[in-house]
Amino acid sequence: MTAIASNLQAVNRVIAQAAYIAQRRAENITLLAVSKVFPVAAVREAHKAGQLAFGESYVQEALDKIAALRDLPLEWHFIGPAQSNKTRAIAENFSWMHSVDRLKIAERLSAQRPRNLPPLNVCIQVNVSGEDTKSGVSPGEVLELAQAVAQLPQLKLRGLMAIPAPAEGLELQRKPYALLRELMQQLNAQGLGLDTLSMGMSHDLEAAVLEGATIVRVGSAIFGERQKL
Ligand SMILES: *Cc1c(COP(=O)(O)O)cnc(C)c1O
Repeated sequence: MTAIASNLQAVNRVIAQAAYIAQRRAENITLLAVSKVFPVAAVREAHKAGQLAFGESYVQEALDKIAALRDLPLEWHFIGPAQSNKTRAIAENFSWMHSVDRLKIAERLSAQRPRNLPPLNVCIQVNVSGEDTKSGVSPGEVLELAQAVAQLPQLKLRGLMAIPAPAEGLELQRKPYALLRELMQQLNAQGLGLDTLSMGMSHDLEAAVLEGATIVRVGSAIFGERQKL
């Protein structure tokens, strides 16, 4: 077995164990393999080991990879920062956009989504740690943005996404994810019908699954350490 295949197996085992502890079904948790910075060959290797959903953060790198991997039935998720001048490429090439943090971005994605494709699945990124360096809307602003995004015809608002400040230990790691789960429950009480919590990375995916993550975004635990850009 290759390193990537055995890493995938290990990550899937962590997800299954956390799901078991949380009395959740592991099938309700999607592993998104974050392949940013890693080459096409690494994605092929992961696909061979059964992985179908891949996350990318840099648009140009992603477009090159998507083009080189057209022969495989992969699902591409954009997880990088939302920038106005990148919305068209995202709308045309991805199935999911996890980091919508303002209405202008959502409006552009909806207008630019090709009509022959299904609506783009989107999540609203929430700043759950309150740091002003992090992108995402504050918890108090989520409802208004969610209600506006839900009206856009070529988008399907699926849920919420967060990248909390790094924390050590399960209890501290769970806090921001519990907040995100509660926020989604509040939005659903307003009738928004969300089904997705995009939360959890290599170092805290267990905490995220315990708090209800439905998509975990895992890079280095699958592909190895990234070189700092
Ligand atoms: C890079 C990245 C990940 C994966 O991080 P790892 O620590 O390598 O698992 C997850 N989410 C986002 C938004 C990222 O940019």
